[in-house]
Amino acid sequence: MIINNIQKLKTNLNSNYLSIYLFHGVIKKRISSKSVRNYNFKHMEKKKFENYIRFLSNNGKAITLNDILKKNQKFKGHYIITFDDGFYNNYKYALPILKKYKVPHIIYLTTNYVDKNLISWIDRVDIAIDRCKRKFVYSSILKKKFVLGKKKNKIIFLNFVRNYCKSLKQTDLNKFTEILLKDLKLYSPKSSSSDLDKKLNWKNVVCMSKNNLTQFGAHSHGHNVLGHMSKSQYKKEINLSLKTLLKNTNIKTEHYSYPEGFESSFNDEIIKFLKKNKIKTGVTTLLPKQNRNSLFRLNRFFVI
Ligand SMILES: [Zn+2]
Repeated sequence: MIINNIQKLKTNLNSNYLSIYLFHGVIKKRISSKSVRNYNFKHMEKKKFENYIRFLSNNGKAITLNDILKKNQKFKGHYIITFDDGFYNNYKYALPILKKYKVPHIIYLTTNYVDKNLISWIDRVDIAIDRCKRKFVYSSILKKKFVLGKKKNKIIFLNFVRNYCKSLKQTDLNKFTEILLKDLKLYSPKSSSSDLDKKLNWKNVVCMSKNNLTQFGAHSHGHNVLGHMSKSQYKKEINLSLKTLLKNTNIKTEHYSYPEGFESSFNDEIIKFLKKNKIKTGVTTLLPKQNRNSLFRLNRFFVI
């Protein structure tokens, strides 16, 4: 469910349910309209972000995931702010605004991306297609020729790749993306210092964890779809994320965000394994009212 204006926030706050909002990044100003970067509005303009946060802080009460662990609560008017992936722009642009309005929030880190300032697999495809000047590309893996040229066609292609990759079973999507880029004869960097790609580093995370508003959770190690991995693969992925976070920051998190967060991104076995690792909540990107009462199936509204 997408929230794209203040009116929708208002309706949400007036419902009897807890509203958990999902953000990814906050940027200084809009990306050029010619570019396909940020075509899905994952990163929000600073001004717009402040409008949302100002409205929420004036009209509702921000709580944390720890607050919802207590029983028999009423959530009308309450909300939780979450960020996925661990972008450096959370620190640079979002934090000063969240501090200004004293709004607590949680940032779910994809630990290998933070560790090495890596660009996520899907952002690497976006960058390659954005830079591509060719009118067509042919993929022998996908056995298809794709029209590019215009921005509209590039977006069709990017949505196709997203859906294709997210449906793959037992595949490391970072490695697959590398193979796909070679197959398409396209280049994309692995790391970047741009506001759209730079990740927080461990020093930033430690520094932020010392303020009384920022909390950190885990969001896998390499942003692979946990529900599409074998048991040994997802166990390794979850263990690595929790260990890497602990080793670098001394944070023992109790909160997890499933990469992609759709219905097949997690299952009962994965939840059982997370519980074994002392995780107490899991957030998704499912539609509201689905599984609303489970702490491991918490729904979020994607704010753009
Ligand atoms: Zn993510």
